[in-house]
Amino acid sequence: MEAHGPRTVLIEATRNILWIMSALPILSYHNVAVAPKDVPYKLLYVSPDRFERQLWTLRRLGLRGVSTSEGITRLSNCTTRGCVVFTFDDGYADTLTMAAPLLKQYGFGATCYIVSGAVGTYNRWDAEHLRETKPLMSRDQLDQWLAAGMEVGSHSLSHRRLNELPHDVARYEIAESRAALRNMLGVPIEHFAYPYGRFTADIVEFVRHAGYSSAMTVLRGVARASDDRLRLPRILVNGERGLWNFLLHVATPYERLRFRPRAQ
Ligand SMILES: [Zn+2]
Repeated sequence: MEAHGPRTVLIEATRNILWIMSALPILSYHNVAVAPKDVPYKLLYVSPDRFERQLWTLRRLGLRGVSTSEGITRLSNCTTRGCVVFTFDDGYADTLTMAAPLLKQYGFGATCYIVSGAVGTYNRWDAEHLRETKPLMSRDQLDQWLAAGMEVGSHSLSHRRLNELPHDVARYEIAESRAALRNMLGVPIEHFAYPYGRFTADIVEFVRHAGYSSAMTVLRGVARASDDRLRLPRILVNGERGLWNFLLHVATPYERLRFRPRAQ
C-alpha cells in the first residue's frame, strides 16, 4: 500500500491545482440585446451594457476571449491559461451588430453557430414558443462577421431536435449544413453545436463522420484536455444575473469544482 507522506500529499495537491487551472471555460450566448418585455427565457438576453462590462472585466483580469478553433488547439497543447472561448448560438443579427464591435474593440475572438437553412430569415424553430421573431444574419452579414476576424460553425440545417429524427435525416442535417456553409462562405467549417443541446451516441458518430473536429453541448462545466471534443460542456451566460455571478462561473474554481468530470 502506498504511503501517505507529505510528498504524496504535495503531489496530490499540485495535481489538483493543475487540474483546476488547466480547464477551459466555454461561454454560451444567444442574444446580445435588451430583452423585450414579457418574453419568456429572458436569461438568454445579455444586454449590450452588461456584455461590455463582462469583456472589460475579463480583460482587466488578464483573460482573453478566443474562438472555438483557438480554444480547441490550446486544449490539446495544454495552453488554455488565460483563455475563455466565446460561442454564440443560432446566428442572430445582434451577434453581428451588438456583440462583434465590442469583441473587436477588446481584441477577443468568438465563434457563431449558424443554422445553414435559415440564413437571412428568423428563428422559425422557436418564434411561436418565445412569442418573438428574431432576425438571423444574412449571407452578407455573415461575411461581415468573418471580416471582423470571427469564426463560423454549424448549428445544423434547420435546428430540429436531432435525437428525434430518423437517422438518415439527422445525418443529412449535420453533413449538409457543413457543406452549405463552406460553399456559401468559402471558409472551413470545423465545429458543430447540437440544436437544443440534444445528442445521442449515434448523433455524435454522425457528427464525427461528417468531419467536424468539435461539437458543443449544453452540459454544464468547463472543458478539459481529456474531454471528448464532440461532447464539450459550456457555461450558459445568464443575462438576468449580474457581474459577480458571471465572474463566479467564469473566473473562479467554482464551476471547475462543482461540475467535476464524469468518471473516466
Ligand atoms: Zn440553437
